[in-house]
Amino acid sequence: MSLKQRMYPTEEQQALMVMHAEHARFVYNLGLEQRSMWTKDKRHFRQKISVYTQCRELTELRRELDWLRAGSAVIQQVALRDLDQAFKNFFAGRSRFPRFRSARDPKSGFAIRNLALRRINHKWAQILVPKIGWVKFRLTYHYQDAQQGSSARAVHHNGLWHVSISTPPRQKVPADTGANVGIDVGVANTVATSVGIFIQAPSFTPGEQRRFLALQRTLARQKKGSNRHARTLAKLASLRRTLNDRRTNWVEQTTTALARTYDLAAVEDLKIVNMTRRPAPRPDLDTPGSFLPNNARAKAGLNRAILASCWGQFTTRLAQKMDVVRVDPRNTSRRCQSCKNVNALSRESQAVFACIECGYRAHADTNAAQNILDRALTTNPGTPGARTQKPRQRAASTNPLPTVQTVG
Ligand SMILES: [Zn+2]
Repeated sequence: MSLKQRMYPTEEQQALMVMHAEHARFVYNLGLEQRSMWTKDKRHFRQKISVYTQCRELTELRRELDWLRAGSAVIQQVALRDLDQAFKNFFAGRSRFPRFRSARDPKSGFAIRNLALRRINHKWAQILVPKIGWVKFRLTYHYQDAQQGSSARAVHHNGLWHVSISTPPRQKVPADTGANVGIDVGVANTVATSVGIFIQAPSFTPGEQRRFLALQRTLARQKKGSNRHARTLAKLASLRRTLNDRRTNWVEQTTTALARTYDLAAVEDLKIVNMTRRPAPRPDLDTPGSFLPNNARAKAGLNRAILASCWGQFTTRLAQKMDVVRVDPRNTSRRCQSCKNVNALSRESQAVFACIECGYRAHADTNAAQNILDRALTTNPGTPGARTQKPRQRAASTNPLPTVQTVG
């Protein structure tokens, strides 16, 4: 988990923090360039590049460059560990190949390890930043929660500084109601539960939507790189941020309410990344060389809706707050809850499920949610929660130094 708090550095501190961010970016990019050049047959490098060799070289570089030496060695080393983690994530298939950090990126920052915090009063606390000292931040979480953290990241965005403190996941508090719930996530209804409740994620208000589209049209007319263009971009970003905050709020409130009501939640194990990928072309077997429609346009619309309805964030947070069983999603929308027959024709429309075998009628999403719960209970008979998702353990590290965790 990460706790994001607004920082209030003094002007003097701010200048030094900007310097830290620039140094972190410089060292990160330099390390990335070195790693990108290295291949097994380039023997002149003699030895494999690792975070250790890079840290040694950083020490040498600091001897040569006065301006780099003026910064913090700790912060610069952490940037190299950050890079190392980025490569580990890439080789494990968790993320893309690390990219260079651009000076024009509106977001910049640096990581802080060996977190030290100090409380001023119930509203304010301070964080120790290398070479700068104590920097004030506004406390909106419990101080005890922030204290659990081991590392943090200071981020500069839109002229504001925030600190994200990464903390271990909080202990789950069981609702102890003995009730279980099946959850179907979708486009028409963001969340449908097996007891027939529908919950909609917030979106833009009609006014905001008009404004958003108008700004997009304005943007298209403006010259790239001009001041007006930049101003329109900032306005669009601000609207997106509003929506994002609203959604995050909704995810927090909805998942907390579910965790307080039910002991176990069953959700579909949807690989959202797979679902948002462009559909494969379907070759026409009758006329070789040509292709049948693959519903790419329809799916593209759906993709946007999927991403917009924030399922990933929802299921992640839910699993952090309560026991969650992920089930195989196949046929959950085609199976009849009453007679258990699977038939694609039973799905009368987007909203209506009408079984063609037994005549059972229900809202399609409710029926699906019930099937999801059924499947969770039959795959874990008797012991609900037996195969639940455990909080992710930090991988045991062979390094004497702990690896940097990227704070989201
Ligand atoms: Zn039926």
